[in-house]
Amino acid sequence: LPKKHQGAETTIFAEMTALALQENAVNLSQGFPDDDIHQNLKILLAEATAKNFNQYAPMNGLPMLVEALIYFNHNRNISVSQHELTIIPGATYGIYTALASVIEPGDEIIILEPHYDSYVPAIETNGGFPVFVSLNEKFEADFDAIKKAITQKTKAIIINSPHNPTGKIWKKDDYEQLYQLIKDTEIIVISDEVYDLITFDGHEFYSIWHHPALRARSFAIFSFGKMFHITGWKVGYILAPEELSKAFRSVHQYLCFSVNTPAQYALAKHLEHFDVKANSQYLQEKRDFFLSEMKDIPFHFNEKAEGSYFQLAKYHEISDLGDKEFSIWLTKECKVATIPLSAFYQDQRNTGFVRFCFAKKEETVLKAVAHLKRYF
Ligand code: PMP
Ligand code: GLN
Repeated sequence: LPKKHQGAETTIFAEMTALALQENAVNLSQGFPDDDIHQNLKILLAEATAKNFNQYAPMNGLPMLVEALIYFNHNRNISVSQHELTIIPGATYGIYTALASVIEPGDEIIILEPHYDSYVPAIETNGGFPVFVSLNEKFEADFDAIKKAITQKTKAIIINSPHNPTGKIWKKDDYEQLYQLIKDTEIIVISDEVYDLITFDGHEFYSIWHHPALRARSFAIFSFGKMFHITGWKVGYILAPEELSKAFRSVHQYLCFSVNTPAQYALAKHLEHFDVKANSQYLQEKRDFFLSEMKDIPFHFNEKAEGSYFQLAKYHEISDLGDKEFSIWLTKECKVATIPLSAFYQDQRNTGFVRFCFAKKEETVLKAVAHLKRYF
């Protein structure tokens, strides 16, 4: 194997899910909803194949889905043309391909830690170097630290809001602060917005595309996996101004060419009836149910998630193990699987936090809580 693949580790999400299965533990680790999906999506997927939507879609996306997304974004004040929107097989692919289309060997890409685990391998396989900047102690962007990390070699910065794993949402002013830092440079922003439609307690979602000047130099990446609770469908879309879209499509045409046609048909039709507010409300109720059921277990939830479907928890009252060891112990002994926050840091530092996924049925949460109550 080439050196870059030697010693490659399995992602923490696959690792903890496998351990949960092996230990017969309740899986609150990997982020996926365990509820049934909307009946309409099942019907539409069958309808697509019956109506012969079974061959290659156009490279940039099935026109009916592209149009539905242009309209959907127009309704949230994001104006986008067909030259700026490309359907992708999931956000992981979108982030990888965006990086592949802009990185030149030796380029530096700034990443804010804690960060999603696919960013670093995607940068490195494309010949770039990740530069890490920690979020502050409240898990907010530290713009002074970002400023210090910018060099002549900085090609791009990756941001993520609503944030996995902290549940934090970037405010309008954060985007302006970022703009002030990069406005005199050529730096591109890669904005991972996969949890755009999961926001709580009146926290508003701002896309990087709501900022006119940043929009001109940004990729924004979205995933139907999160939007419609169908992580296994692996379909999403990416917005980029025309020139960046061209670069993106030049890689995309040889990496994947086009995306699952029946799924695109079903998604386009389903979008017509999608209720954004109800979606967030549904997950906010899940967050609140999880937190209220956990109230007698000695985890500390300092701040409620503002968005996403993850909740961080401190466990210092329970154990002084490192967070990875604690997650393994909790899975094996208490039969509840979580993700250690250290997995989102390059140096895998011990953080004292674990991440729970609360996008689960009530019975799943109740089962996890019953397991925990036997111990605590
Ligand atoms: N970015 C973040 C922050 C995520 O949590 C996920 C979760 N899966 C992804 C990207 C990847 O999304 P997809 O499944 O569409 O590839
Ligand atoms: N994004 C999901 C999470 O954070 C998992 C995706 C994956 O398993 N690669 O849990």
